[in-house]
Amino acid sequence: MRTAIFPGSFDPFTIGHKDIADRALRIFDRVVIGIGYNERKPGFTTVEERVRTISALYPVGSGVTVEAYSGLTVDFARKHDAGFIIRGLREVKDFEYERNLADTNSAISDIETVFLVARPELGYISSSMVRELINNGYDAGKFLP
Ligand code: ADP
Repeated sequence: MRTAIFPGSFDPFTIGHKDIADRALRIFDRVVIGIGYNERKPGFTTVEERVRTISALYPVGSGVTVEAYSGLTVDFARKHDAGFIIRGLREVKDFEYERNLADTNSAISDIETVFLVARPELGYISSSMVRELINNGYDAGKFLP
């Protein structure tokens, strides 16, 4: 059983995130979406809301489960006996940031980071862009699964 975790803030979870999770499920038997949170940094949506809305997309038996976590991603991966961390890459800026995270995680664990390149038509979508639209009264529904 190959398990991967897909960690992120997912504040909110977009169609870009969903595409990565669904594609990861074609490679791994089980994907655990991990909503990383920091108690001192309240988000745009609450962690409970994120767990509820993302879980609703994945019925029991789909292979995807959703859970919130705080602390290090490698500890969350170990807790689920997952050997892999999935991350999405949209542009060079993502790569620079992700490379540091992946290097740090390999320095402290045996967990491999697997990158999936964003689909061209979804690569411009980000949670921050969706938050900006909603904060300014726009309907961001087309970016949300
Ligand atoms: P974080 O705060 O950890 O960067 P995000 O919720 O912003 O969390 O993103 C989680 C993961 O999803 C990251 O690997 C990010 O690069 C990826 N991602 C975000 N938006 C997209 C998208 N539109 N297409 C593909 N991957 C994406």
